[in-house]
Amino acid sequence: MRSFIPSPRAAAVLLAGSALLLSPLSGQASARPVVDQAPASDCFVPPGNAAAKGGHGPDTRDISAAEQKAIEARTAQILKAKAARGTGVPKGALAAATVPVYVNVMRDAAGNGDVTDTQISQQIAVLNKTFGGQESSQAANTGFTFTLAGTFRYNNNQWHQDKQSSSYRKQTRKGGANALNIWLVDFAYLGIATFPWDYARQPGIDGIRVQYTSLPGGSETNYNLGETATHEAGHWFGLYHTFQGGCTATNDEVADTPAQSSPTNGCPEGRDSCSLPGLDPIHNYMDYSYDSCYNQFTPNQSTRMSDMWTAYRA
Ligand SMILES: [Zn+2]
Repeated sequence: MRSFIPSPRAAAVLLAGSALLLSPLSGQASARPVVDQAPASDCFVPPGNAAAKGGHGPDTRDISAAEQKAIEARTAQILKAKAARGTGVPKGALAAATVPVYVNVMRDAAGNGDVTDTQISQQIAVLNKTFGGQESSQAANTGFTFTLAGTFRYNNNQWHQDKQSSSYRKQTRKGGANALNIWLVDFAYLGIATFPWDYARQPGIDGIRVQYTSLPGGSETNYNLGETATHEAGHWFGLYHTFQGGCTATNDEVADTPAQSSPTNGCPEGRDSCSLPGLDPIHNYMDYSYDSCYNQFTPNQSTRMSDMWTAYRA
């Protein structure tokens, strides 16, 4: 099924929440309610990306080339101002922060949808491994580390299915701009993330929503090594997909991730969907490949995350 309906990490950005969505197994995805999603007319379907949706319909807010450009300009301005005040990060250095992580387990009323404390600590370990560049000699060490700041369990059928998500996030979110809140839910996607540049406008919903079966040891075949959280956290730190903007020179604003036309499914070595230089970065955490295929953030992605952290989360 995967080879023909490569859906899994189809992303979506909510208009209200400026969030990114990832879809899990396409089969169950279409059977599950897709909630908190912007109306189809407000959504952007990336050209040639229909197969990546797994039958969800449109699930990506259009960050137009113009908005993308505006975000870059605004970020550069903030960084320049911080550098002038001496509150930035020296050139060539990384922000290298320790990120407090709050895990919110949204169980249903009967307690279904739980994960064990062991799985949570394994998930934190995966974040540290992946952001630490430990899965490949090519991988960048981003300098970000993660520490579990708290685990909170709730029993609520609506919240478990990610319904009333803006409300439940506002009611349960912990910490400031630097705190990564993870809400574990059972929904039609693998994950959803907010961007750092939207924090000031909507701090109450900032964080990532993750399919609870994607944690290490979970039941989400091909996506149960905990790297959905890595992918979502990548967005939370300000990374786009490696196929953002498609086969264009601008692409994802990151110079060392070759442009690609469309998301990857599985782990097709040698895939080259874009005639611009370089093979598709199928091992990059910001593509849609299987967890087992993922092994890196690049040095320039690391720099971008550091810059975004300094601009919006430090
Ligand atoms: Zn994504």
